Order: sequence, then structure tokens, then C-alpha cells
Amino acid sequence: MGKRKSSKPPPKTQRPKLDIAFNCPFCNSNKSVTATLDYDAGVGSVVCNTCNERFSAKIHKLSEAVDVYSEWIDACEAENTL
Ligand SMILES: [Zn+2]
Repeated sequence: MGKRKSSKPPPKTQRPKLDIAFNCPFCNSNKSVTATLDYDAGVGSVVCNTCNERFSAKIHKLSEAVDVYSEWIDACEAENTL
């Protein structure tokens, strides 16, 4: 008795959709920064709901909220070192 190999494709790993919120580098509020990605316009924005600091960056189809956020952090750090 042989086992038949099933031709089912491997299950896709699904990432749960979470509320995307980050900590603000300006006012240090916890999870106060939310990101909006406009893929049509190619612009991603992050805004802090506490201190209203905002930042936008160019995005592409594979960009994620965290990419815009890390660009913001990079920009903050770059400003601090100048
Ligand atoms: Zn803030």
C-alpha cells in the first residue's frame, strides 16, 4: 500500500493584519504614530497623534508602513548628527 502524494500547494503563511502604530521619536509617546500608504501616489506618511509631528517618504509597491517609519527615524538621526 503506497501513499499517494497529494498535489496540494503548500499553505500560504498569512500574516495577520495588525493595527500599525509606532512609538514617536519626538514626544516618545507609545504607539502614537500611525502610517498611511498611498500606493497610487507613491507616498507614505507617518503622523504622530500626540504631537502632530509628521513625515512622508516615497514608497513603492512593496513598501510597508515600517519602511516609512524607519526612514523617518533615519531622517531624525541624520538631522541630529548634522
Ligand atoms: Zn509625537
